Amino acid sequence: MKELIITDKQKYLDENYPFVGTPKLTDRLECIHCNSIFTVGDYKVYKIETGFEMICCPNAPECNGTLIDWIEIE
Ligand SMILES: [Zn+2]
Repeated sequence: MKELIITDKQKYLDENYPFVGTPKLTDRLECIHCNSIFTVGDYKVYKIETGFEMICCPNAPECNGTLIDWIEIE
């Protein structure tokens, strides 16, 4: 896995977020893998061997959570 450096993180998220309702970079969400609350703009992107780019938890690679593991803070 290779980390990609994203210059325009909002644009990247808008284009690659697979669900309805793309979060804003200033939103705060919780990663259910590492139980941390993070700011969306701190997300990381990793490219896996197949060429697929994964939007990951800011605590990657220590945390293997991706955006499907992000939940809203109650
Ligand atoms: Zn995490």
